Amino acid sequence: MKLNNKKIAVVGGGPGGLTLARLLQLQNVDVTVYERDIDKNARVQGAPLDLHENSGLAAIRRAGLLDVFKQNFMPGADREVIANERAEVLYSEHGKPEENFGHEHFRPEIDRGVLRRILLESLQPKTVVWDAHFVSMEKQNNGWLLHFKNGTTAYADVVVAADGANSKIRPYITDIKPFYSGITMLEGTVYNAKEAIPKVSALLNGGKIMAFGNTKNLLIGQKANNEVGFYASFKADDRALASGIDYKDNKQVLDWFTSAYPEWDSVWYELFLNNAGPYIPRPIYCMPLDQCWEAQPNVTLLGDAAHLMPPFAGEGVNMAMLDALELCGYLMSGNYPTVLEAIAAYEINMRKRASVVAQESLDNGEKMHSPTALQDMLAFFQGI
Ligand SMILES: Cc1cc2nc3c(=O)[nH]c(=O)nc-3n(C[C@H](O)[C@H](O)[C@H](O)COP(=O)(O)OP(=O)(O)OC[C@H]3O[C@@H](n4cnc5c(N)ncnc54)[C@H](O)[C@@H]3O)c2cc1C
Repeated sequence: MKLNNKKIAVVGGGPGGLTLARLLQLQNVDVTVYERDIDKNARVQGAPLDLHENSGLAAIRRAGLLDVFKQNFMPGADREVIANERAEVLYSEHGKPEENFGHEHFRPEIDRGVLRRILLESLQPKTVVWDAHFVSMEKQNNGWLLHFKNGTTAYADVVVAADGANSKIRPYITDIKPFYSGITMLEGTVYNAKEAIPKVSALLNGGKIMAFGNTKNLLIGQKANNEVGFYASFKADDRALASGIDYKDNKQVLDWFTSAYPEWDSVWYELFLNNAGPYIPRPIYCMPLDQCWEAQPNVTLLGDAAHLMPPFAGEGVNMAMLDALELCGYLMSGNYPTVLEAIAAYEINMRKRASVVAQESLDNGEKMHSPTALQDMLAFFQGI
């Protein structure tokens, strides 16, 4: 076997990296995950993720984790409500019959922190080294010596970059950089949502809201533990990001919202008044769709590190987990005699697949921020 007596380092313990570690461990490969978070209790940011049948769920299935996933997903959290800026509901999936596991269109939602816990608990003890913030690496023997911020080092024969959008390993493979999509999202979270934001919670009903108005939108989703995540999503040029708002000050952000979203009903103010932590401004970037590089024998990449894309097709995590599934398949396959050949075949296929999905994500981003977004999204959901 190509990976016999080889040490594999996966840098980044997000959904992509942890899935790969689990799949490799099932095949008795010596794998270690290096994660910058201080420990397993670090808070995982972001709204829930919906896993798709032929990608995220396919990886979960192969990882032998479907039963535990079924015990932990959030039934009903995938139900969409479409509203206008006045908080009038124009489309709702609540009360409609829902597909189930195995159906192509079933997209069960899971809290990011819960998904991470499931994957972590599936790994052998000590697979993950916490507080291991990768800073650099240099060639040693046929592999790499990795350096971490806390001064520690580790050797690996093969390194997999699973360290997300701002990957520190990607530059060892390619100098191709992402471009700004023209859209920025401002992320907030509300704790004790039912009590703190009763009007929005009633509209949300444990699912998701997409509210559209005047090229701007609000995307809201139920999280675990009675939390709600929300994003104000809008077109902005790069410079608008340094607009001088103090993102720790809810009042300042509410003032920004009332001026940037002037037609929007005061129902939405609940979100901004009750945001729990500092807002996270997220300018949305995308890797070039025609990106290409030469494969290397001992380092590759997956997930956002490989093909960062806008979130508007809900594919990022699904692509990351499918990468893990496919990379493991190529590395373990007898069809590729060397690690280099396996990596090369994996990367060609991964780039091609991700570029199709990234195009769809960019197109959706344009549609969702166009003057006709509300009508277009209604037509889409109603199948008109
Ligand atoms: C606003 C927004 C909304 C989104 N919504 C969705 C959605 O609805 N559906 C969907 O499928 N996708 C969504 N995504 C995208 C999704 O979050 C990513 O595609 C997915 O998390 C990628 O997984 P990953 O494992 O590649 O990287 P990540 O989840 O980013 O994980 C990377 C891991 O690496 C660690 N790390 C980073 N740097 C280092 C370092 N130097 N050393 C060690 N460790 C490091 C991080 O702490 C993290 O644990 C959204 C993204 C954004 C920004």
